[in-house]
Amino acid sequence: MKPAPFAYFAPHDLDEALDLLAQHGYDGKVLAGGQSLIPTMNFRLAQPAALVDINRVGALAFLDESDDGGLRIGALTRQRTLERSAAVARRAPLLHATMPYIAHVQIRNRGTIGGSLAHADPAAELPAVMVALDARFRLQSRRGARWVDAVDFYIGLFTTELQEDELIAEIALPAIMPRSGWSVQEIARRHGDYAIVGVAAVVQLDSAGLCSAVRLIYFSVGEGPTPAPSAAALLLGQPVDDGVIAAAARAAAKQDIEPLGDIHATPGYRRHLVEVLGRRALHEAFRRAVKP
Ligand SMILES: Cc1cc2nc3c(=O)[nH]c(=O)nc-3n(C[C@H](O)[C@H](O)[C@H](O)COP(=O)(O)OP(=O)(O)OC[C@H]3O[C@@H](n4cnc5c(N)ncnc54)[C@H](O)[C@@H]3O)c2cc1C
Repeated sequence: MKPAPFAYFAPHDLDEALDLLAQHGYDGKVLAGGQSLIPTMNFRLAQPAALVDINRVGALAFLDESDDGGLRIGALTRQRTLERSAAVARRAPLLHATMPYIAHVQIRNRGTIGGSLAHADPAAELPAVMVALDARFRLQSRRGARWVDAVDFYIGLFTTELQEDELIAEIALPAIMPRSGWSVQEIARRHGDYAIVGVAAVVQLDSAGLCSAVRLIYFSVGEGPTPAPSAAALLLGQPVDDGVIAAAARAAAKQDIEPLGDIHATPGYRRHLVEVLGRRALHEAFRRAVKP
């Protein structure tokens, strides 16, 4: 298949890109790495009248260590850059460990962090990881900039807070919390395929060794990044042992997640994976919280 006809614009700076988005509104689309948009257009699932190619907008491609110990990442940063960055490995090891799960090297060479976050595929790793990391996104339009927490950004299936004249300009990650740990787990049919089920976990212990924070965020089980509040409630304030972790993972599978079936897996198999991967992720995250 070939895409429907479209106009193509290649702005050289952010102002020009935002002008074009404002001008074309609903009929315009940002083109970043093209790894999701172009196949969708070739299948004519998307038929934008205008593409605004942001690949020449240098102001969107940066990776900075911020003074507060976190990271600031421009939306156009390639997935492969994150994978190879020592700063990301040091300051956001969960993000770093996630990158090899995403597709294949060739796709990560072109695919951008902003493209994956904006595309909002419910099976994608990065949206869930951003919620687990308590990230914030800077959304920019001609009207100005606004910051949105990752947890509030995802509002439905392939649906986000982005307005038609906005783009994601920047992703801000906070510093790693003291006595915290992390894990990412997924099962896919082949390495590089989208996950059948996956989960990202960030946990924290207080000075007495009790669980003081937990974000257990699943992907490929719902319309977007899917938290497990019952599992978190069982862990918060508790000393953590195998029994509590097993009960939390069971609660995630039985109470928090209502997986759908598709050609890849039945709802029952997905529910089973929610429990198994939740248990693995919590074990690994709490182990790291004790021994970083
Ligand atoms: C064979 C294959 C396997 C893949 N496997 C996986 C996988 O296992 N896990 C996974 O997560 N992904 C996977 N992907 C998708 C890949 O990660 C894409 O790179 C990513 O989803 C989109 O990033 P992109 O930069 O290519 O965005 P594009 O394809 O250019 O754009 C995607 C969407 O985001 C919008 N957009 C892009 N940038 C911005 C921005 N800054 N602000 C606002 N809107 C923007 C576009 O308008 C479009 O709607 C796979 C892709 C392929 C082709």
